[in-house]
Amino acid sequence: KRRGAGGGVSVYAPRMSEQQQERKAIRGELRRAIENRQFSLVYQPKIDIASGRCVGMEALVRWDHPQRGRIRPDQFIPVAERSGLIAPLGEWVMREACRQNRAWLDAGLPPLKVAVNVSAVQFLCQDVVEMVARALRESGLPARHLEVEITESVIMTDAAKVMRMLDGLRDLGVSLAIDDFGTGYSSLSYLKRLRVHCLKIDQSFVREMLRNDEDVRITRAILNIARDFGLEVVAEGIETADHAAFFKAEGCHLGQGYFWGKPMEPADFHGYVSRDLAA
Ligand code: C2E
Ligand code: CA
Ligand code: CA
Ligand code: CA
Repeated sequence: KRRGAGGGVSVYAPRMSEQQQERKAIRGELRRAIENRQFSLVYQPKIDIASGRCVGMEALVRWDHPQRGRIRPDQFIPVAERSGLIAPLGEWVMREACRQNRAWLDAGLPPLKVAVNVSAVQFLCQDVVEMVARALRESGLPARHLEVEITESVIMTDAAKVMRMLDGLRDLGVSLAIDDFGTGYSSLSYLKRLRVHCLKIDQSFVREMLRNDEDVRITRAILNIARDFGLEVVAEGIETADHAAFFKAEGCHLGQGYFWGKPMEPADFHGYVSRDLAA
C-alpha cells in the first residue's frame, strides 16, 4: 500500500534501491568492460598562458558502453574505487597514456608532458611506483614526460606508505601535481612533506571568481603559496577570455579549460598541437 505525501520512506525507498541496483549493474559491467577494452582516453591541452602554446595535456578516461554510450568518469570512478577495480582500470589508463605520448613523440610532436590522474585508493591497493615504472619501461616514455595528479585525500590515508610511494615516483623522475587544490584539508603542512612540483587550482574557484570576491582572494592566496614554495600552478576550468586575462595578470603560468580546448580524441589532439606549431 502507498502512503500519502508525508510517507517519506515509501516515496524515497524505491528510488534508493534503483540507484543501488544501478551501482551494482555498473560494478558487474565494469569488470567485463576492463577485459573487453571499452575504455578510451581523451586529452585536454595544458597551455602556457603567456605564449598561448600547448605544453602538455591531461589524460581523462571515458567508458564507451555498448548500450549506454559514452559514460563520464564521475559515474564510474567512484564505483571502481569502492570495488577495487580502480587498480586494473588505473593501470590501463597509465599504460595507454604513456604509450600514446611516446607515439606522439615518435610522430614528431614537440615533447609534451602527459598528466595522469591516480586515485588515492590506488595508493592503498597497489604499488603505484612499480605500476608507473612498468608503464614507462614498456612504452619507452622518458619519465620527465609524465606527471601524476593526486588529490589531497591521499595523505589522509596511510601517510607513511603514501610518502614512500611519492618519493619513489619522484625518484623515477615523474612530476607530481596536487589536483583540486584548495578544496581539501586546511592544513598546509603537508605541502612541505609531499614535495610536489605543481598545484592545480580547482575550477570551482575559477568559475565563481568574476562574481565572488572571496574566490578571487582564495585564488590569489594559492598563487602566493605556490610562489613561496617555488611550485608551478595550473589554473583549471578556464572558460572565458576574462578568466585567462585574470590569471595572466596574476602571473599564473599554466592554464587548462574550455577556453583553449575541451578534452579531445587522440587524433583531434594531434591536429590541435600541429596547428599550434604552425601558427
Ligand atoms: P579532474 O581531474 O579535476 O579533471 C578535470 C575535469 O574538468 C574533467 O572532467 C574535464 O573535462 C573538466 N573540465 C576541463 N576544463 C573545463 C572547463 O573549462 N569547464 C568545465 N566546466 N569543466 C572543465 P571529466 O573528464 O569528466 O573528469 C571528471 C573527474 O574524473 C576528473 O576530475 C578526475 O577526478 C576523474 N578522472 C578522470 N579520468 C580519470 C582517470 O583516468 N583516473 C582517475 N582516477 N580519475 C579520473
Ligand atoms: Ca586531474
Ligand atoms: Ca581538477
Ligand atoms: Ca575534480
